[in-house]
Amino acid sequence: MSTRARLKYDVFVAPEKPFSAPAPRLGEPRAWDPVTSTLIFGPRDALLVDALMTIREATALADWVELHDRRLTTIYITHGHADHWLGLSTLLSRFPHARAVATAGTVRQMHAGARNNWARARFPGQIAESLAFAEPVDGPLELEGRPIHVIETGHTDTVDTTSLHVPDLDLIVAGDVAYNHCHMFVGATTAASRAEWIAALDRLAALNPAAVVAGHKDPTCGNPPSILAESRGYLEYFGQLRETAMADEDLFDAMVNRYSNWVSRQEFLLFGLPVSGQA
Ligand SMILES: [Zn+2]
Repeated sequence: MSTRARLKYDVFVAPEKPFSAPAPRLGEPRAWDPVTSTLIFGPRDALLVDALMTIREATALADWVELHDRRLTTIYITHGHADHWLGLSTLLSRFPHARAVATAGTVRQMHAGARNNWARARFPGQIAESLAFAEPVDGPLELEGRPIHVIETGHTDTVDTTSLHVPDLDLIVAGDVAYNHCHMFVGATTAASRAEWIAALDRLAALNPAAVVAGHKDPTCGNPPSILAESRGYLEYFGQLRETAMADEDLFDAMVNRYSNWVSRQEFLLFGLPVSGQA
């Protein structure tokens, strides 16, 4: 970290939570993996990255943001998966002067996701009735005059994903491009999309960050940059096994054995959900 850095950051982790779906064939009982939201702040203002999913989560997140005693100017959404933005309307009701922004691709995915009732079926009664959407980001992001760069990372655990780079902090807020000791949502990947995902991880690593916040993490872990290489290794290993046409059960066992201390041994992460899995 530069000695002139004025910005700081803090990470909120929403714990694992059960969801409604037929019992899995493999692994632990159905539970959503822990999701993060990151607050970047200066002496006066703050920018929040991602808005979590349920009303309870977003309310707890809003309380936590308030404890920082900064003026929340911006909420940035990294990608269109429901678990990172359905809490936005709850947050905006608490911080009505904050501007919610995302790339045009993410905004498109948010609207597409809102048209199916996927999350309401999985989390009945837990999703806000009225959803809010981000506006397309219309220029460079900044916080108290310090730049925050949007990196478009393409197809990683879904399409149109992004990460943020905060040069003042040598920080990357990776969204779901990186996972931190948490089984990764590879259930919707192909060999080609995994190659694109790995290229995105390499682009982030080339920025030589001092810290990387993953969209999903083991809450007991810090935010070391080593998670970029670890996520890359996970994708490569999964890809190697997938290409052998191994049975799902054997592939699952191989992944949880290799990553025995990673959280969320969830079948849906490796193989998707029956209808439209998202992580
Ligand atoms: Zn996610």
